[in-house]
Amino acid sequence: MAETVFSLNTGRKIPALGFGTWQSKPGEVEKAVEYALSIGYRHIDAAYSYGNEEEVGIGLKKAFEAGIKREDVFVTTKLWSTHHRRVQENLAMSLEKLGLDYVDLYLMHWPVAMNTNGNHPLFPTTPDGSRDVDFSRHHVDTYLDMEKLLHTGKVKAIGVANYSVVYLEELLARASIVPAVNQIENHPLLPQDDVSDFCKAKGIHITAYSPLGSTGSPLLTLPVVVQIATKNGVSPASILLSYHIERGHSVLAKSVTPARIKANRQITKLERDDMNDLAEVSSGGNLKRHGNPPWKVNLGFPDQ
Ligand code: NDP
Repeated sequence: MAETVFSLNTGRKIPALGFGTWQSKPGEVEKAVEYALSIGYRHIDAAYSYGNEEEVGIGLKKAFEAGIKREDVFVTTKLWSTHHRRVQENLAMSLEKLGLDYVDLYLMHWPVAMNTNGNHPLFPTTPDGSRDVDFSRHHVDTYLDMEKLLHTGKVKAIGVANYSVVYLEELLARASIVPAVNQIENHPLLPQDDVSDFCKAKGIHITAYSPLGSTGSPLLTLPVVVQIATKNGVSPASILLSYHIERGHSVLAKSVTPARIKANRQITKLERDDMNDLAEVSSGGNLKRHGNPPWKVNLGFPDQ
């Protein structure tokens, strides 16, 4: 079956289902990436701050040696906050670790700079223990430096992550190049419709992260998700991943477990009613119809 893809504002395509690598431990992530590519994933999401780009790179290399072409794999990595003033340098570090000449997408991981020369290379802190934020570095200045990367051929597209509408408005007011992607946390409990609508209007593609709610999440047992899964004869994970593709967003699923890596490729065509039910989750509307979840969570609704 042909891989579902979405078009970016660069004219290039991004595969709808991507493979996440955050929190994938040494000794696991190389095999996970190699296996994911061997069974058809063509979109790998990495980041400098995940500390595992070298292993991701080995997984990619093994896949290329097995015959998968570099140009058929969409690789994303991200500029880390301690490198907002050293954009080119951080990209070079990532490319070297990944063993690549270019990435398909380079994202600003967060619109917040941290001290480049702080007490820790990734998470510097001030003497009182709080994050050592570099308030004098504006996120748009970082983005303008990222725009210069496009001329080097080392990135095919640039974008952002974790951007709200306010941040996007600030960025678009000064940017020459509209970001290709905004990668955001997204799932039925955090639909971020305002960001999604804004990005759609501006031609910015959304990629959803933590679609399963990340590690230890209650999303997979949410009654409405389980009921839609049962109705469609698929797993709750399939529903949670398909929800994004139905919205026109790409989605990143992380796993180091071969059976899950394989199972997560099952994308389901969701009916409008299913999408409406999932859309209601964040407002609590269908908790009444489908019953309260088995976990105790205060979503702020008076009847809980
Ligand atoms: P996910 O929502 O992908 O959840 C991952 C967790 O779910 C892991 O514990 C995994 O376990 C488990 N899991 C995977 N598949 C299944 C399944 N079929 N059934 C049950 N459990 C399953 O979380 P992430 O937060 O990792 O998000 C995905 C990716 O998005 C990240 O890996 C990263 O690449 C990106 N991301 C980007 C961020 C940003 O700031 N731009 C922030 C966070 C994530 P196991 O691995 O043990 O199988």
